[in-house]
Amino acid sequence: MELRGVALTYPGPPPVHALRTADLTIGAGEYVTVVGPSGSGKSTFLNIAGLLDKPTAGTYLLDGIDTGALKEGPRTALRGSRIGFVFQSFHLLPLRSALDNVLLAMVYNNTVPRAERRKRATTVLERVGLGHRVDSLPTRLSGGERQRVAIARALVSRPSLLLCDEPTGNLDTATAASILKLLDELHADGMTIVVITHDPAVAARGARTVRIRDGVLSEDFGRTAVAGAG
Ligand code: ADP
Repeated sequence: MELRGVALTYPGPPPVHALRTADLTIGAGEYVTVVGPSGSGKSTFLNIAGLLDKPTAGTYLLDGIDTGALKEGPRTALRGSRIGFVFQSFHLLPLRSALDNVLLAMVYNNTVPRAERRKRATTVLERVGLGHRVDSLPTRLSGGERQRVAIARALVSRPSLLLCDEPTGNLDTATAASILKLLDELHADGMTIVVITHDPAVAARGARTVRIRDGVLSEDFGRTAVAGAG
């Protein structure tokens, strides 16, 4: 993903510069964390990166596609096929099994031929360690298992970017560690991962960290240099 002079100002009055002119390139296969205090602009960044909001200035390229030039239909299709979302509160359908939650993502995104969907959903649930819980309702799963279902759902369309918003925010420390380990594994498999967090321990997991403060995005070169040296 590439942001060129991207900014978002809420008109107000008074206008709020939620994201000030930002340039950022995240290459395929990178694991980048985005940190900042509450109100700094993290959600604004996530919404732009996830094609949920349009910037008020600048250009956002995803896989080389100028997203600003897209009409709503192609934009939604691009979001569904290229971006997997993982949220703090999982956002699963409570009355549908783990398998159905993953299947429905493919129905909604229409990214996978119908005949392949069940196999694909089963495989991805196995990948996140839930092969034995495919028929369970989310209400019968632990928090960590729910987040695994959500990660499976995010991965099933084989997105080019996994966007995670405080993915461990609702989990206890041990469970959070297991989810962070899963993200490490997915990164090792080549997935591009962007994790938005206010937690320094989570931020430290990325090979590269971007900071946002008062809408100003800046690279944490100290962290990048350490990661590069290591
Ligand atoms: P974070 O996710 O880091 O908590 P946000 O991106 O939600 O920060 O917010 C950045 C700034 O933009 C804050 O000052 C917030 O109050 C403001 N903001 C967010 N959404 C809106 C909106 N719809 N209208 C006006 N201001 C907003």
